[in-house]
Amino acid sequence: MSNFFTPLVEAQHTVLEACSVLGKEKVGIIESLGRTLAEDLIAKRANPPWNNSAMDGFAVRNADLPTDHLVPEPVTLNVIEEVPAGRSATRSVGRGDAIRIMTGAPVPAGADTVIKIEDTEPTKTHVKIFSAVKTGSHIRKQGEDITKGECLIPRGTTIRPAEIGILAMMGKPLIFVHQRPQVAILSTGDELMDLDDQFDEDKITNSNGYAFAAQTREAGGTPIVLGISKDRPEDLKEKISEASNADILVISGGVSMGDYDFTKLVLSELGKNVHAWKLAIKPGQPVTFGTIRDTLCFGLPGNPVSSMITFEQLVRPVILKMSGQTNLFRLTIQATFQETFSKRPDRRHFLRGIVRIENGIPTVRTTGNQGSGILTSMLKANALIDIPESVEQLKPGDMVSVQMLSEHVPHISS
Ligand code: AMP
Ligand code: MG
Repeated sequence: MSNFFTPLVEAQHTVLEACSVLGKEKVGIIESLGRTLAEDLIAKRANPPWNNSAMDGFAVRNADLPTDHLVPEPVTLNVIEEVPAGRSATRSVGRGDAIRIMTGAPVPAGADTVIKIEDTEPTKTHVKIFSAVKTGSHIRKQGEDITKGECLIPRGTTIRPAEIGILAMMGKPLIFVHQRPQVAILSTGDELMDLDDQFDEDKITNSNGYAFAAQTREAGGTPIVLGISKDRPEDLKEKISEASNADILVISGGVSMGDYDFTKLVLSELGKNVHAWKLAIKPGQPVTFGTIRDTLCFGLPGNPVSSMITFEQLVRPVILKMSGQTNLFRLTIQATFQETFSKRPDRRHFLRGIVRIENGIPTVRTTGNQGSGILTSMLKANALIDIPESVEQLKPGDMVSVQMLSEHVPHISS
């Protein structure tokens, strides 16, 4: 590969080095789903908080049960009280006593064992028990799940429904999470019209702005849509100034070699540490990156597929890192390629792929036409097939790496 091209991993390293994790904010636990915990969750209470019954049955003293002989002699105990869940027994279990107990109720003093109702023959005042069980049977021990004072969820954890359940169990209605990055989105091009503009037959719709806004949301950022800039440096500068409070600015278009490609020029003029890369990837070769004060600025190619893929490879990991996440890249799996494919051994290719699980084995095929303007190729894709720079040929049956874009994978069996 010529030195002229920059490997994607090098560009990823540069953009990730340039950003850091954002500060924290307090949110309601339901709103914290998918975000990153910015405090350690310390257990302020044990779980279970007290020994409680795992079954509906009778709390007894194990010493009162039938002896563990080949043919045990049944015993009859006096039922002295009944405790539903949410109440505690007022009496303790003495010799020959039993207390009727429901699942979740605290085990009464004196009792060390619970006998399931199914294993007894109860009347109003007595209960007949037929066989021996181990001491402690059907008792959930205090603290067997959670010990008071332990760190239950360390900061940096991505919050899922299970974490929200535990947060609620620990009595936390509000928690600190890392802030979402504010991502300003600007589309450049005299050929563009927006959805609320008067329809013009000679123009194309600013689809990139909307795709970027959605990719931002999906990655956990907050999109700020700045609209369209004309291909004029002054207009571009003015629009860029509207992004001064954003953590990230993503501009589509104007990064190639055309006469009206001003994004690269303007970012070079306004920014620090500006890189005008020719990435060794296809699609999405030209990418500009730099910082204007504290805003990370990306100039991505205008072709809809190139723009989505460069966003995916470069902006998404930055949004995730700023949000405090530690897994910055998509799940990558190996799948059996089902087509033939050839390329020059220069750039890394990202083909839009359809992964299916066929008889338990992941397979992948392309979505058809892979042109960088064919946005429908993204529509059908649930993965990106990641073909290394050096590879020249692929045939059916070859193993390829795929980056999963979605969890929706069809399962097929024959
Ligand atoms: P550029 O990178 O500015 O040379 O743009 C390359 C091509 O991408 C143009 O021919 C446009 O058709 C298309 N394009 C640029 N910006 C957008 C956009 N915001 N939405 C949809 N297509 C775009
Ligand atoms: Mg343009």
